[in-house]
Amino acid sequence: MKYRRVRGTEDIFGTESEKWQQIDNIFKHICGLYGYSQIQTPVIEHSELFRRSIGEATDIVEKEIFQFQDRSGRDLSLRPEATASIIRAYLENSLYQSPGVVKLYYSGAMFRAERPQKGRKREFHQFGVEAIGSYGPELDCETIMLANRLLRSIGIEGSIIELNTLGCRKDKKKIAGYLKDIIGKNIPDLCPKCSDRFERNILRVLDCKNQACRDVLGNLNVDIKKAVCPDCINHFQELKRCLDGMGFQYRENNFLVRGLDYYSRTVFEVIHTGLGAQNAVGAGGRYDNLVEDMGGRPEGAVGFAFGLERLSFIAANLPSCSRMLDVFIVLQDYKLVGEALKEADFLRAENISVDIDFQGRSVKSQMRLANDRRARFVLIIGQEEAQKGVCSLKDMSTGEQKSLTRKDVFKTIKGGVNC
Ligand code: AMP
Repeated sequence: MKYRRVRGTEDIFGTESEKWQQIDNIFKHICGLYGYSQIQTPVIEHSELFRRSIGEATDIVEKEIFQFQDRSGRDLSLRPEATASIIRAYLENSLYQSPGVVKLYYSGAMFRAERPQKGRKREFHQFGVEAIGSYGPELDCETIMLANRLLRSIGIEGSIIELNTLGCRKDKKKIAGYLKDIIGKNIPDLCPKCSDRFERNILRVLDCKNQACRDVLGNLNVDIKKAVCPDCINHFQELKRCLDGMGFQYRENNFLVRGLDYYSRTVFEVIHTGLGAQNAVGAGGRYDNLVEDMGGRPEGAVGFAFGLERLSFIAANLPSCSRMLDVFIVLQDYKLVGEALKEADFLRAENISVDIDFQGRSVKSQMRLANDRRARFVLIIGQEEAQKGVCSLKDMSTGEQKSLTRKDVFKTIKGGVNC
């Protein structure tokens, strides 16, 4: 039997994996500049956590969650996103006791049983942040600026940040009433999915990608801000003022609603035309009720998540570390492999990456292998040279080869290792 990967999952390796690592490293560094620290939460959680926070009537909870019973009959789920888990961890570990806004970043695999297509997987990876402890629009502003800086840091140009406000919890009923009134007469013109959403989660009608539905909403001049309370409108205006003050470009999108129940007030999405139909590379917003709903003291919070698969796809200009290996050791005779292991051990202890052929290949074939592995240097060990305590070092970018003592080998390699 041939084993194949599960539908909607990917194996990530080679240059793609290197690229992900680079993105992850750069993002972690930048999050550090903004005062964030890392959090890692489990991939499995009690299903109730996601049902309660994301919402019963959302696509994620209704259709997409990988839910199962463990051997003891516990109802568990693979996480479809990280915010709920992080708030659970924040409360469970009393992270609220640390003073100031608690800023956490994470990266890891998420799981949603969506119909797999380009840019949409069943296992995908997110890098995201959550900032808990302020209702101020200035925190939204900083968070949005951080999202933008992360993209710039990996050379992504041409992304657009779209903004909207969903108002507070009290506004939700008013918004639903407003939408029912304005859309109600036009239900026959909407797609079957929207007719269903109209009954069960009306806000999601605005999220529909179907052009006919979009046209109906466009012609009706739908704008949920008309049903949002003055305080929330003020919060939105303050956020825009703050972004304008920073010279930051964004676009208001009256149809932006996001598919998760916990969002309130600010919502945003980062879109990029290079992605095709699934054009969002990241998304986020405020969730001012979630901490309290999950049993904590009321705390304002805001966060976002980027999809790594989509980031990597559009980060074409990411400067790559072109050399994978510092040194490849070529043996003139496989009997010298013990010498090679000693040399490799010494160099690795000095943070130099080394590999050796363990398959007894010919010298020519070992040289080819060194080339394939993109080695910066080749260290050639022969019987006679080993006895004299010297070896040959070939610089693979210039082709220059020298006979050197072990000490000089180390100095030359250390000086020439570039990434
Ligand atoms: P969300 O958690 O739905 O707000 O999504 C945030 C980001 O995660 C999106 O903008 C995508 O970049 C990424 N993402 C969400 N769902 C998927 C998926 N099924 N496959 C790949 N990336 C995804």
